[in-house]
Amino acid sequence: MTTDAVRTPMPDNVRMQTESTELLRTLIRNACVNSGEAASGQEVRTADAIEDYLAGSGLRCERYEAAPGRVSLITRIEGRDPSAPTLLLMGHTDVVPVNSAGWQRDPFGAEIVDGIVWGRGAIDMLNITATMAVAIRHLAAGAFRPRGTLIYLAAADEESFGTYGVGHLMEHHPEAIRTDYVVTEGGGVPVPTRSGPRFSLAIGEKGINWRRLIIRGTPGHGAVPYGSDNALVTAAEVVRRITAYRPKTTILDVWRRYVASLELEPSLADALVDPDRVLDAASRLDMRGFVPLAHACTHTTFSPNVVQGGTKVNIVPDMVQLEVDIRSLPGVSPKDVDAMLADAIGDLAARVEVQTPRAEPGSLSSAATPLADALARATAALVPGSRIAPRMMAASTDARYFRWKGVTAYGFALHSMRLPHGEYSAMFHGNNERIDVESLGLTVRLWDGLCRDLLG
Ligand SMILES: [Zn+2]
Repeated sequence: MTTDAVRTPMPDNVRMQTESTELLRTLIRNACVNSGEAASGQEVRTADAIEDYLAGSGLRCERYEAAPGRVSLITRIEGRDPSAPTLLLMGHTDVVPVNSAGWQRDPFGAEIVDGIVWGRGAIDMLNITATMAVAIRHLAAGAFRPRGTLIYLAAADEESFGTYGVGHLMEHHPEAIRTDYVVTEGGGVPVPTRSGPRFSLAIGEKGINWRRLIIRGTPGHGAVPYGSDNALVTAAEVVRRITAYRPKTTILDVWRRYVASLELEPSLADALVDPDRVLDAASRLDMRGFVPLAHACTHTTFSPNVVQGGTKVNIVPDMVQLEVDIRSLPGVSPKDVDAMLADAIGDLAARVEVQTPRAEPGSLSSAATPLADALARATAALVPGSRIAPRMMAASTDARYFRWKGVTAYGFALHSMRLPHGEYSAMFHGNNERIDVESLGLTVRLWDGLCRDLLG
């Protein structure tokens, strides 16, 4: 501690922002990179760092190790009233791999440049994991004794389905994460509107449906290909058909409300909720990333992403494997997905064996809950004139585990206007991930305000 700090103690808000920034930098440097393999991630490093940070606050930490090094950490402030609602603040501690060549700075260096922290996980989602830890530490240190229980969960393995994180906890320790409300990642980027910024609140997610297509042919000599039954040629036609397939446009209520919240010119707003005009209208909006978002929120999407096949250049291949990433709208079942895929492939279906590595429905929470009201109040208190805008996410998070069980789960945070909101879609799992320190300060105060408001 410097002598200055002794003379003039830092106000709590400044201290919470500084601690959030430093804890985030530690988590970035820990580089808990999840490649999808069981031995990757090693989130134990970050569980240790958070336990160290919480030491001395009176909070007791519980550790859950789903596989060697795959540690999730839980701490809680017990409520006074067992009938009052419980809130779970949830952050994941793993990050996705990087391609360093595309970065302007060391992805695991956690450098601060001009008030911006750089590094993998800066927005997905070590920022939230760190600010939630700081908020609960300060609440505990301030002798916060709420009516309802507050739980903090730093979860492993979110970036690979939560098998060694929330999935493990749900299956083996459900009592440790029993809750009424969950807040995690997926929202909080401000969209400017005529009446002030709107912070997106993620209330739902699309379903993950992965399909592996095995396409067969007949092997032969590459020197005499005429009339051959080449599996790669058939696979190319399958890819073409999947790409050309136009699933029907569905305007869900959550999309309708999101469009309304943007306060656009009425003719544009009408077009955005018209199944025939939504994509055209989206392209008229000067918002980076909005067209693919509008498409994803109104369609079940198909993306053929991995192909493997062939053995040698002079052999006509007899087998090609194609992996397709399908994301279904809430309400579209894995069975519906299979029917759509068969429709897309058409008369080639007999030549294609479909395997199902993953089949999950989407998930959706109501936007009208005491949690949404409390988040809106806490947000407006920090950013006067702002409101929240419920929407659906195209990607998925650990929130789905809770929504499937009927628990209200939202994705939220608070980002300042410092980084243009169009930048965010490129930073998630992309290059040059970064966050400004002011956003960390806003987010840590948001959690503080939310807990006081909702848990009382
Ligand atoms: Zn994430």
